Amino acid sequence: MKYLLLLGLVAVIWWVWSKRKAAADAPRVRPTSPDPEKMVSCAHCGVYLPESDSVSDGGLTYCCEAHRALGSSADRR
Ligand SMILES: [Zn+2]
Repeated sequence: MKYLLLLGLVAVIWWVWSKRKAAADAPRVRPTSPDPEKMVSCAHCGVYLPESDSVSDGGLTYCCEAHRALGSSADRR
């Protein structure tokens, strides 16, 4: 009976260990985008957004047309 309990304990430890190992391996298995989009920050408010969603003007990028019109925060000083 004592050995049966020991065997059960070993089985539980092995089960927990294998579950943890599977969880650790999961992020590597998950497919990632081969070409992640470049992130840019708004020159006015500093928010980060994908380059395709940004509005660029004079080498600076903005989050929206309104912030492009207001200009960069450096211009307001
Ligand atoms: Zn902005």
